[in-house]
Amino acid sequence: MGIKFKCSNCNKDILLQSGKTGDMVQCNECKEVVAIPENAITFTTASRAESTGSGFRSGKIYFKNLKSGEVQTVNTCKWDWFLFLFSGLWGIPLLIKKLYVWGSIFFFLQLSYLYYYTQLSSVDSYGSYGSTPPAYSAYILSTIILFILIISLDVYFGLLGNKLLAVNYLENGWKILNKDDNEIKDAFKRWNLDNVFEEVKK
Ligand SMILES: [Zn+2]
Repeated sequence: MGIKFKCSNCNKDILLQSGKTGDMVQCNECKEVVAIPENAITFTTASRAESTGSGFRSGKIYFKNLKSGEVQTVNTCKWDWFLFLFSGLWGIPLLIKKLYVWGSIFFFLQLSYLYYYTQLSSVDSYGSYGSTPPAYSAYILSTIILFILIISLDVYFGLLGNKLLAVNYLENGWKILNKDDNEIKDAFKRWNLDNVFEEVKK
């Protein structure tokens, strides 16, 4: 968290990484020593990037919702460990990133998996040796199928989850703040979205 306020002497913006009301700081413009006022604005990394026009972290696309002012980031990496490892976690990272349909799919897959898995354990405990209850085989099959399905989707999201996130933001009217970044151009090219990027650049 950083802070931003206007110099009480020259009225230019002063940006600081940290500080609290009443702290004395020197203005880079007029060299006057001024106190941090009560109305100083605190900001996060994303909004600082926006206010100064630079300072975007590399490897990230910054999307902004022009209506709400909200900023979200999407990674440009070829393989995303975070999405691979955590997309399947009830779809929570995807829901946070507003990919609601995919987030819900992961949620229900996880729920079904848990259901069959717990059924499996309860049937197992009543099962007698020598005869396999019919339900048991069905539960085993369902559990295995769901497990493979979830792992496959995890791999898919490790590879292409960021593409889906980026497309989703663009389709919902979000704007890219750092579109001049070459890494972003490369990412769209890798995602076979050159045409989309040309539209974005206009
Ligand atoms: Zn000043």
